[in-house]
Amino acid sequence: MTTSEPIDIAPAASEAALRLIVAECFGVEVPTFQGEGPSGGHPALFIRLSRCNLTCTKCDTKYTWDWSQFDLRKESTKRTAGDLLAWATSSPVELVVITGGEPLLQQARLVPLIQGLLAAGKRVEFETNGTLPPVPELVVDGVRFNVSPKIASFGIDEVKSVVPAALEAFAASGRAAFKFVASSVADLDHIAELADTHRLAPVWVMPEGTTADAITATTRVLADAVAARHWYFTTRLHVMAFADARGR
Ligand code: SF4
Repeated sequence: MTTSEPIDIAPAASEAALRLIVAECFGVEVPTFQGEGPSGGHPALFIRLSRCNLTCTKCDTKYTWDWSQFDLRKESTKRTAGDLLAWATSSPVELVVITGGEPLLQQARLVPLIQGLLAAGKRVEFETNGTLPPVPELVVDGVRFNVSPKIASFGIDEVKSVVPAALEAFAASGRAAFKFVASSVADLDHIAELADTHRLAPVWVMPEGTTADAITATTRVLADAVAARHWYFTTRLHVMAFADARGR
């Protein structure tokens, strides 16, 4: 059985409490790309926050939330916004991806970091599961949300993973792309229902797979049906390029 721990997402009062729980940062010392979605192939820096509010069976970052398999105290560190800002601005790369886990669990504490990144000329993308509506301070120029609602075939109860009010807040923001992981044409039918019900656009589809061979195979299963719906299609460039290397 997998478990995730609830964390305090209330606005913090002291500087110590303002620290973010971080799993890893990468892209400065060893350059890399955004591997997925609308900015796929763009040079990018990554700040991966720890903890998640879901427990997807097919999750490939369980080291951010699964206490039954990982000691999250060893898998994460607490870092200040100033520390993370100094790290990101040491690189000329413009795009900073804030991912997880579920990064918006810590969104109140993220606001100073995002404001600092934007002031430094960076642009920011959040990779979010779409269950938590963004605070207004994050819905600003220079920020995009790659919203990835997890469907049942990814190993999660959609009662938990599909939150209508949150999805509608992202859709209304005008700053969201909806990126669904799919493994079959039947998944695409279900994604169409969700997109229609919650008025989600644009829809991006990403083939499930954690190896280049699996991604290639699923891409071929899905491609015609994605094209027929006039949706966008993305690969997982980091898997194709770097296999399962962590921190790439
Ligand atoms: S929402 Fe994302 S990070 Fe959280 S358990 Fe699911 S796949 Fe993993």
